[in-house]
Amino acid sequence: MTRAISLHDVSKTYARGLRVVDRLSLDIAPGEFLVLLGPSGCGKSTVLRMIAGLEEITEGELRLDGEYANDLLPAERRMAMVFQNFALYPNMTGRDNIGFPLRVEAPRADPRPRVDATARMLGIQDLLDRFPGQLSGGERQRVAMGRAIARHPSAFLMDEPLSNLDAKLRNHLRAEISRLTRELGVTTVYVTHDQGEAMSLGDRVAVLRGGVLQQVGTPRSVYALPRNVFVAAFVGTPRINLLRGVVRAPLDGAMTISLGKQYLRLPEPLSRDHQLLRVQQGREVIVGLRSEAVRIARPESARPGEVLITGLVEHVEFQGHEVLVHFDTGSRPAVVPELEAPRPVPGPPRRRRRQGAVLDRLRERAGSLRAGPVVVLDHPADADARPAPPEGRLPGDLVVRTSPDLDLRHGMQVPLLVDLAHLFVFDHDGERICPAPARLPDLEE
Ligand code: ADP
Ligand code: MG
Repeated sequence: MTRAISLHDVSKTYARGLRVVDRLSLDIAPGEFLVLLGPSGCGKSTVLRMIAGLEEITEGELRLDGEYANDLLPAERRMAMVFQNFALYPNMTGRDNIGFPLRVEAPRADPRPRVDATARMLGIQDLLDRFPGQLSGGERQRVAMGRAIARHPSAFLMDEPLSNLDAKLRNHLRAEISRLTRELGVTTVYVTHDQGEAMSLGDRVAVLRGGVLQQVGTPRSVYALPRNVFVAAFVGTPRINLLRGVVRAPLDGAMTISLGKQYLRLPEPLSRDHQLLRVQQGREVIVGLRSEAVRIARPESARPGEVLITGLVEHVEFQGHEVLVHFDTGSRPAVVPELEAPRPVPGPPRRRRRQGAVLDRLRERAGSLRAGPVVVLDHPADADARPAPPEGRLPGDLVVRTSPDLDLRHGMQVPLLVDLAHLFVFDHDGERICPAPARLPDLEE
């Protein structure tokens, strides 16, 4: 039996009135694999625990197969949870760990056939007689999966089940989880902060930020048409380049987006999307360029729709099959808060703390966790209060992916061709304006 899970305007408020999940609505189809993706602390586990019945729903409705389910006990929901810390009983063998929930549910039935069938499915027959202390991390997580599967649950709820494992094992188990859940056809809600995991596993991905759903869609649509800069920056690797620009739309000349010292000249005739940018004339916008939108090539080789800028090589990151080149283009990056854990910023601590406290109070009064903007453009004038650039990035830099054959060194000035068909433009508040929303209804939910 598999289940439809629906959340309607679900909120969670802990003590002190802080809303950690804010009016979340999601419809998960029977058999669907939905990933909840977001940075640490954005409320993912809280959502999962509310679905499981381990956490009370403060406001809103949970429905299972259409039936009101807010008050069902966890056991009545028949869902199986898998956690990152494996949570096995140390004094029981693998067999007993897998069989334990079966024995609780049906004390008279013999759990052996189901345990054996599950073990065969997972290829862990030889682990059944060992204790958790005699298993590696990956083996323990397989036994934990076995315990979840053996119960034939109506849904799997997985909370970062792979994050305590090393990279190689993580990839391996990721593939296994994907195969198993599809084979079983059981609705799965999978929580992770790892966008790569989310994109490779999910039928759909729901991106959360500060307890608020930003976007839900197939991995392809979330990548191709991110609703705002937060989603654009959170999904995809290397991270999308976000540069601050200003739209220039003179009455008698070509429309351009200036990027500090350089500009992108929009090709004539203007596409419909680019025409829509006219209303932004003179305003600051955010230009989003994924690494596939920019290539290093001679200006003469520009294809239609490609425009030339230049970049100064700052840093070359060798990755084996490819190279990531960091360029200084003389433009300024847009800073997206909350993408990573905040880093300590040097500066006058007293004033900052007081400002923080005022902000916190305002947010609490507003009753919402972090209703802050998705992007910061208005930096305070003093340099130390400026947010630090994202991890590993230099101010003004543009990261381009290229072949390792190209011999680029620090300090070289290089022509860059920007493919305007792959240009994203976000407005001052970080909402996507280009491509225009709902231009491709089949892609955008
Ligand atoms: P995630 O799983 O996305 O990392 P969580 O759902 O665990 O986030 O937490 C969301 C927010 O709720 C965090 O700010 C966390 O500190 C807060 N929180 C979680 N559990 C409790 C609790 N029992 N009491 C108060 N605050 C909590
Ligand atoms: Mg969590």
